[in-house]
Amino acid sequence: MFTKARLKLTIWYLFIIMSVSLLFSFVIYSGINAELQQFERLTMVKTEQDFFGTRIRRTPAFEPKVISQTRQKLLLTLGLINLGILVVSGISGFLLAGKTLKPIQLVLEEQKRFIADASHELRTPLTAMRTEIEVALRDKKLNLSEARKIFRSNLEETNKMQNLSNNLLSLSRYEVRKMPMKKTNLSQTLSATMEKIGPVAARKKVEIGFDLKDVYITGNPDSLQELSTILIDNAVKYSHIGGKVLIKVSKSGIHARLTIQDFGVGIEKEDLPHIFDRFYRADSSRSEKEGYGLGLSIAKSIVDLHHGKINVTSSPGQGSTFIVTI
Ligand code: ADP
Repeated sequence: MFTKARLKLTIWYLFIIMSVSLLFSFVIYSGINAELQQFERLTMVKTEQDFFGTRIRRTPAFEPKVISQTRQKLLLTLGLINLGILVVSGISGFLLAGKTLKPIQLVLEEQKRFIADASHELRTPLTAMRTEIEVALRDKKLNLSEARKIFRSNLEETNKMQNLSNNLLSLSRYEVRKMPMKKTNLSQTLSATMEKIGPVAARKKVEIGFDLKDVYITGNPDSLQELSTILIDNAVKYSHIGGKVLIKVSKSGIHARLTIQDFGVGIEKEDLPHIFDRFYRADSSRSEKEGYGLGLSIAKSIVDLHHGKINVTSSPGQGSTFIVTI
């Protein structure tokens, strides 16, 4: 598809360049030809009479043959110049068309990969549900408690799909739409986050330590809350039972800084460059069944929305530190 588009674009480039080139050639040829015609007129043999009536024969200034040769040379030179322009602009047009189309090609490939990944993630719970229902329907002696078990399991799968679709919606929302911004106390957005994550941390006996300062930024409170939820949720999720998570809000020059540190499983060096990619899950965390590998890409979109930066340092087995600077 892209080779076809590239060729089409090259033809358009060629058409424009050659039209201009041929137009210029025509103008040059017409100008010089007019001059030649002028000379040609001079070459005509003129006979005049002098004062005594004697006929004088004027010598032609140019040979007609020379003029027609000059005209032919001019045509040949212009033809060669146009041929050269055709070849050079053909090659450079093809290269330029490739360069122009490259970003579009990359975005389309990314889009395709995204759709394939999303459908794959949706297919897994759907297949599990379908298999359970089919087996149950074939079982003539299925009793109520067995049916309840299947309903419960199906409900779990439905929750997973709902989670996934919410994540996909968040991702597209932050990537496509501009969010309303207002003066926001970064520390305050964390209190709402803690209401959600507190019980999860308590269940895992993970202690959460705070060092919060009132730091104001221009931001979207809801998305900032989602950002902190993702990072703190991950810190708890990848902590060991009885572990510790430290959350700090500070000021660094004109920037606000949110630091979330855990002492959990950590991230392998080869995974670090990919953790913000969509659907990327490091091997060490594949056993975590809840994650789809979308959290950090949503976090990155939110940080981008605020023109900020997100950095991570991590050592396997020792923990990770995520720093957001806005
Ligand atoms: P997931 O839903 O799988 O957690 P994320 O996009 O939030 O997806 O994270 C991507 C991957 O980055 C995770 O699968 C995990 O391997 C790694 N990761 C993220 N946060 C942490 C953390 N605090 N500690 C260790 N690994 C982490």
